[in-house]
Amino acid sequence: MVLRLSGVAAGYGPKTVVSDVSFALEPGQILAFLGHNGAGKTTTLKAIMGLLPLRGGAVEFDGRSLGRTSVADRVAMGLRLLPEGRGIFPDLSVEENIDVVAARNVVPGAMFDIPAIYKLFPVLDERRDTRSGSLSGGQQQMLAMSLAILGSPRCLLLDEPSIGLAPNLVERMFEQVHDVCKSHAMTAVLVEQNVAAAMKIADRVIIMNNGVIVFDGLPDEARASDFWSYF
Ligand code: ATP
Repeated sequence: MVLRLSGVAAGYGPKTVVSDVSFALEPGQILAFLGHNGAGKTTTLKAIMGLLPLRGGAVEFDGRSLGRTSVADRVAMGLRLLPEGRGIFPDLSVEENIDVVAARNVVPGAMFDIPAIYKLFPVLDERRDTRSGSLSGGQQQMLAMSLAILGSPRCLLLDEPSIGLAPNLVERMFEQVHDVCKSHAMTAVLVEQNVAAAMKIADRVIIMNNGVIVFDGLPDEARASDFWSYF
């Protein structure tokens, strides 16, 4: 297993928002992590990434308990977050964004070095000198995805990557996520309100409600379950 959560609890201030969250993912698996607004999906991703301390339970990555491992060390180990709202440097050019992150995350023999990224997203190659804040929404999301996978990602946490994108772009981006996961044995946790798009590439579905997992199973089982009425 690449990523294993056992009884994870996390929250803010006096409020524990998620509790007893447990699941384990294999290399290359794509999890659609679904639920209403406020169900606790983003909170769970933050806890995995080390952006929020655990209030209970444990997160293991590649068999190693992350405990107090810093966010930077988690990134170096191959755990990556594509945050809600993109997470690019809007005042830097495309090339500068990529160079800054590559300098930190790409070592010789990396899965995705700079040429590999431009090959995966040729439009970014064409726009190297463009201020990234001036790119279209779809291009910004491609850049955000590039920054998240530069180096050797083993597990990508995507927080609502489809927000603000035209439907055809969502489909294309999700196909790319799928291709990268399957060709490079990269695991993905996909938090998404666009349930139909997420279901097209998911191998497995977890549904959260009020901070706990209420369903965990295959996509067809999810569609047939009582919880599908949520969507
Ligand atoms: P969404 O799709 O709205 O992002 P979500 O399932 O990702 O939903 P979370 O963002 O994890 O949900 O939020 C879960 C709960 O935690 C909500 O009640 C939210 O108000 C609360 N919450 C989120 N962020 C904070 C914060 N920084 N401080 C306090 N409470 C927060």
